[in-house]
Amino acid sequence: ATNLLHVPPPQGLLRPLVVPERLLLGPGPSNVPPRILAAGGRQLLGHMHPEVLQVMDEIKAGIQYAFQTQNRLTLAISGTGHCAMEAALLNLLEHGDTALVAVNGIWGQRAADIARRLGAVVRELWKPPGEYFTPRDIEEGLVRHKPLVLFITHGESSTGVLQPLEGLGELCHRHGCLLLVDAVASLGGAPIFMDRQEIDVLYSGSQKVLNAPPGSAPISFSERAREKILRRKTQPLSFYLDMGWLANYWGCDGEPRRYHHTAPINSFFSLREGLAMLAELGLESSWERHRASCAQLCQGLRDLGLELFVKEEKARLPTITTVRVPKGYDWKEITAFLMENHAIEIAGGLGPSVGKVLRIGLMGCNSTSSNVDRVLRGLRDALRRCHRSRL
Ligand code: PMP
Repeated sequence: ATNLLHVPPPQGLLRPLVVPERLLLGPGPSNVPPRILAAGGRQLLGHMHPEVLQVMDEIKAGIQYAFQTQNRLTLAISGTGHCAMEAALLNLLEHGDTALVAVNGIWGQRAADIARRLGAVVRELWKPPGEYFTPRDIEEGLVRHKPLVLFITHGESSTGVLQPLEGLGELCHRHGCLLLVDAVASLGGAPIFMDRQEIDVLYSGSQKVLNAPPGSAPISFSERAREKILRRKTQPLSFYLDMGWLANYWGCDGEPRRYHHTAPINSFFSLREGLAMLAELGLESSWERHRASCAQLCQGLRDLGLELFVKEEKARLPTITTVRVPKGYDWKEITAFLMENHAIEIAGGLGPSVGKVLRIGLMGCNSTSSNVDRVLRGLRDALRRCHRSRL
């Protein structure tokens, strides 16, 4: 029988798993604290066991707190932030619906791409990377394109911009449009109030401020958004992400829960603990922690002679700071130097910010004064050692 096997067991798998210690100060994932790691390492239960359904109910309540919403249709998608983005768009949009997408970095680009694949008519509002949209920009777009859905990114992690959301929900509703907001990189790090700001669909991710491993993504739909889904003439294009099925599995529709998919149970254990830690700390303390670390980092970067990419202080995302790649340096050498010599991950740009910026993330338990000191020490060292004139 051995002769039948023409592929031998791979050598790599016969060696032990290697996971080095690293401080993850890129735009995510962030380090997972021992309590959350331990939760993810617990023994499995069945995905329909009452104890797991109870954990799912606790996750739902944790998301309602983090989002500041009382929406019934609140749950975690079994997938990463992209999966929640697809879930939001494919449940809201039908073929031929018009979607207006605010593009000031990669996330708007991606949302536009997804909406186009769904057969939506996609119109774009555009701002250069590093800038945000004013209510006036948005209103002009709403009047001109008459969309059914507006997509906008709260924390633009490719550029480091925090989008002000005040008034946008009301504006959208006045123009018969739903407001869809990506808060993957900002949730827990900057204030957001789903109900008060009249946001119709809000989603986030597990691996940023919540400090859980990637693989589950909080999402919530307002009553208006739920009604739009109920009025659909066609079924959502994905079975896996069909909100009707997910609402039932998550106990949001008052019906007995039915098997839809085998939930990533251990990811849910971790997400539960991430949300529990946020609830224990309190949203206001969490926002203040991120504000203070970001302010300390920005001052330190300026002291090193570096230029912050986002000019206006109030438009800076407290979780991810962008700094221009200094003249005479190659960004790849700086990130590689920090990784090799300081075991710290920071990132270069993404999408429209590639080659222009370095990105430093301080999220959840990583957002501490000592981590700011550590990354600044690493950067000072890199600036001394990586200048091109040394070659
Ligand atoms: N939106 C934003 C603002 C993000 O920062 C990210 C992750 N970098 C995503 C969406 C996508 O999330 P994921 O990588 O978990 O799919």
